[in-house]
Amino acid sequence: MQKITDIFARKSATFSFELFPPKTEEGYVKLLHTIHQLCDLKPDFISCTYGAGGGSREKTLDIVEYIQNHHQTASVAHLTCVAHTKNEIRNILAEMKRRGICNLLALRGDPPRDNPNWTPGKDNFKYSWELVAFIREHFKKHFSIGVAGFPEGHILCPDRELDARYLKNKIDKGADYVLTQLFFKNQDYFDYTARLKKLGVSARIIPGILPITDYPALVRFCAVCGASVPQEVHDIFKPIAEDKEKTLAAGIDFCLKQSRELLQGGAPGLHFYTLNKAHPVDVIIAGIS
Ligand SMILES: Cc1cc2nc3c(=O)[nH]c(=O)nc-3n(C[C@H](O)[C@H](O)[C@H](O)COP(=O)(O)OP(=O)(O)OC[C@H]3O[C@@H](n4cnc5c(N)ncnc54)[C@H](O)[C@@H]3O)c2cc1C
Repeated sequence: MQKITDIFARKSATFSFELFPPKTEEGYVKLLHTIHQLCDLKPDFISCTYGAGGGSREKTLDIVEYIQNHHQTASVAHLTCVAHTKNEIRNILAEMKRRGICNLLALRGDPPRDNPNWTPGKDNFKYSWELVAFIREHFKKHFSIGVAGFPEGHILCPDRELDARYLKNKIDKGADYVLTQLFFKNQDYFDYTARLKKLGVSARIIPGILPITDYPALVRFCAVCGASVPQEVHDIFKPIAEDKEKTLAAGIDFCLKQSRELLQGGAPGLHFYTLNKAHPVDVIIAGIS
C-alpha cells in the first residue's frame, strides 16, 4: 500500500477525505456505501478518526484496512495517545503494521467523555510529539506520519506563535506532514503557513475544509474545538438556518470559493471533513477540478 509521502513525491497537490467510525451496525453498513462513492471520486487518500466524539476506537483499523484492500485507495489511521499506556500504543502500532497499514495521523486526543479529568501518568504520553518520537524510535520509517495543526492556535494555546513552535517540534520529532483543523478565514491559514515557513518548517500543511451543511451544528462544534466562525458565515447561514436546501447550496458556494482561493494561494491540497457523506463533497470536487 502506498505511503502518503510517496504520493507527495508524485503530486504537488492532493485531495483527501476524512471519515469517522459510526456507532451502530446500521451506520457501518451505510459507511461502506459512502466509502464506495468517495473512492469513485479518486481521492489521493482517505483518513479515519480514532475515538473522536466518543466514536468506537476498534473500528478505525477495520475501516482503514477495508479502504486499502477493497478500493486500492491509500488510507490513514488516526491514532490518539490519550488514555492509552505506552505498551497499548506499541501493541496497536504492531497490529497496524501486521495489517499492512503504513499511514497514520499521530494525535494526543482529548480526555474521554466518561473520564474527563483523565491526566497522563508516567506510563502515558502527555503530548503528540512524544507519540511521534515513540513511533519513529520503535517503527523507524515504516509509517508515514501526519500530525494536527491549528491555523488559529489550539484551543488550549491561543498564542499562535507558541502553538506554531509546538507544531515545528512535532515535525522535528519525525512527522512528515500536517492536516489542519477546519477554518473559514483563509487568511488564518496563509498567516499560519507563513509563520511556520519562518520557523523553517517545509512539511506540507494541508488545509482541513468543512463544507457547511448545518449552521446550528457548526456553531456548536466550533465552540468546542476552538475554531472561530467569522461574521461573514453568520451573515450567510443564520437567516437560512432552517432551510436545508438553501443551506446546502450556500455551503457548496462558500466551500468552492474557499477551496479555489486556497489552491490559488499555494495550498498543497485540500482535506475535506465529509461527516461520512459523499454529498456535497462530490459536487465540490467536480467544481474545483
Ligand atoms: C486534522 C485533525 C484530526 C483529528 N483527529 C482526531 C481523532 O481522530 N480523534 C480525536 O480524539 N481527536 C482528533 N482531533 C482532535 C485533537 O486530538 C485535539 O484537538 C487535541 O486537543 C489536540 O491534539 P494534538 O495532537 O494537536 O495534541 P498536541 O500536539 O499534544 O497538543 C495539545 C496541546 O498541547 C500544546 N503543546 C504541544 N506541544 C507542547 C509542548 N512541547 N509543551 C507544552 N505544550 C505543548 C498544544 O499547543 C496544544 O494546546 C483531530 C484534530 C485535527 C486538527
